[in-house]
Amino acid sequence: MNYHKIFADICSEIHQKEDKGVVASYIPELKKVDKDKFGVYMSMINGEHSAYGDWEEKFSIQSISKVLTLVLAYKSEGEKLWKRVGVEPPGTPFNSLVLLEHENGIPRNPLINAGALVICDILLDTCSNPKEEFLDFVRELAGNDSLEYNQAVAESEKATSFRNAAAANLIKSFGNLKNKVDDVLDLYAYTCSIDMTCADLAHSFQFLATDGYDKKSKKQIISVSRSKRLNALMQLCGFYDQAGEFSVKIGLPGKSGVGGGIVAVLPDHYAIAVWSPGLNEKGNSYLGMEFLELFTTKTEYSIF
Ligand code: GLU
Repeated sequence: MNYHKIFADICSEIHQKEDKGVVASYIPELKKVDKDKFGVYMSMINGEHSAYGDWEEKFSIQSISKVLTLVLAYKSEGEKLWKRVGVEPPGTPFNSLVLLEHENGIPRNPLINAGALVICDILLDTCSNPKEEFLDFVRELAGNDSLEYNQAVAESEKATSFRNAAAANLIKSFGNLKNKVDDVLDLYAYTCSIDMTCADLAHSFQFLATDGYDKKSKKQIISVSRSKRLNALMQLCGFYDQAGEFSVKIGLPGKSGVGGGIVAVLPDHYAIAVWSPGLNEKGNSYLGMEFLELFTTKTEYSIF
């Protein structure tokens, strides 16, 4: 099967669709993005790649950063991390507070906002300069030293993140945040604000397709067993309260962000990133989901 040809055909078919979803507006900086942008990059573990459209343009990775902060915290904390954050799908929106109250301030998983706040709290304790160390880590994974935090996006989020502040205060009230709430919210907003291209994202996640080993840096980023767990978590929790539908229609572990990016991995084969800023009602990229569904259906390139 010629995957590159199928890839190109599906990209142009999806790109032409009129309905593109709605760009996130609750973070004021994000609503400035052009809804017509559409880019895809697939990086295969044999070194081949396919690219389409705006794949070289940087965009706000937002919640996709939650996987990367988790990896950094998991490296230093190991399995004791799971005492502070669960591994269950949420079944509620990404910024929900409901379950926190019921579950004693232990977020359901690290890929929802509440869980990522606890992960940022851990990074504040384990890194001497968390912002710098996280950025260095992402640059190394992407193989791109030019990556930066987007200060305007981070400050725009901090000025409006009342729900995240509520979640952080609730978690703190249960004793599951050690640092000051403002410091946790600050690190969280900055980690979400990194701008990356589809190519950067596919490269950064490729180690999860190769048992935790990064071919570029020739480093074992995380053990084989932890790489398996991270993929399982993305499969169960990577798409807000649409994770079940993503599994059923697409069948890949992955993570989305409200900037319109989705990155997904087929272990032993490829990592793929798609960007289309319009979102569906669950906060996932509208065309990104459509593209991946068609791609994994036509190529049968999914884990199921
Ligand atoms: N920084 C965003 C927030 O906390 C991330 C949301 C997302 O991409 O799901 O609202």
